[in-house]
Amino acid sequence: MIKKDRSVLSSWLIGLFIVFVLVAAYFAYPWLRTRVGRMRRLSEWLNNPSMHQGWSVNVGTRCGEAPFILPTSGYVGFIWGDSFRPGHQHQGIDVFGGEITGKTPVVAAHAGYLTRLPDWKSTVIIRIPSDPLDSGRQIWTYYTHMANKNGISTISPDFPPGTSEQFVEAGTFLGYQGDYSGDPDNPVGVHLHFSIVKDDGSGRFRNELEINNTLDPSPYLGLSLNASQNPEKVVICADQNDGP
Ligand SMILES: [Zn+2]
Repeated sequence: MIKKDRSVLSSWLIGLFIVFVLVAAYFAYPWLRTRVGRMRRLSEWLNNPSMHQGWSVNVGTRCGEAPFILPTSGYVGFIWGDSFRPGHQHQGIDVFGGEITGKTPVVAAHAGYLTRLPDWKSTVIIRIPSDPLDSGRQIWTYYTHMANKNGISTISPDFPPGTSEQFVEAGTFLGYQGDYSGDPDNPVGVHLHFSIVKDDGSGRFRNELEINNTLDPSPYLGLSLNASQNPEKVVICADQNDGP
């Protein structure tokens, strides 16, 4: 009887162990994939952008029939679903201009109504009342890191803190890429973080920090920006040449 109980217990423990390994692998895989693939190539590009000009996208251009234009120029270092630590998934895309703060312009990817909350140093959000890919719903486009590491804004003076619901056309100049992270001793590298945020159903944007509150930007920009479908390729428009 005791023997039987032991074997039940040990098979139960083995089962638990297998579940634990699977869960750990599920959370660690996007992180490992980002670390070994995307981060390595980003440092290759940052070391010498001029060597890899074919890896960049260009501000204001449209890829194919995509409803959005490219909001900035540079190398798309991280995409939707990448992971910087186990259990975390990146909610947007990071485009690295390869220049110092205040040089690489950022424009509106689509027309809408711009808001900059009073305490936003580096961020604007644009409300799009009718999603061009799903006209029944409202979505938001979120642009951030437009300040230097000390929090001096590089957002256009047209949009001071407290700006609310100001209409902008696609292509409107919003500011310049920066490296503001909130911690002056640990800046993030000069880039734009861009994401598409869901509406909460009552006219407000959801918390951008949760990937479930954001949309895969691939169909909006006409680029392969979903990390689960594009684990390693350089993100460029399909009608440019393929890159590595
Ligand atoms: Zn980002």
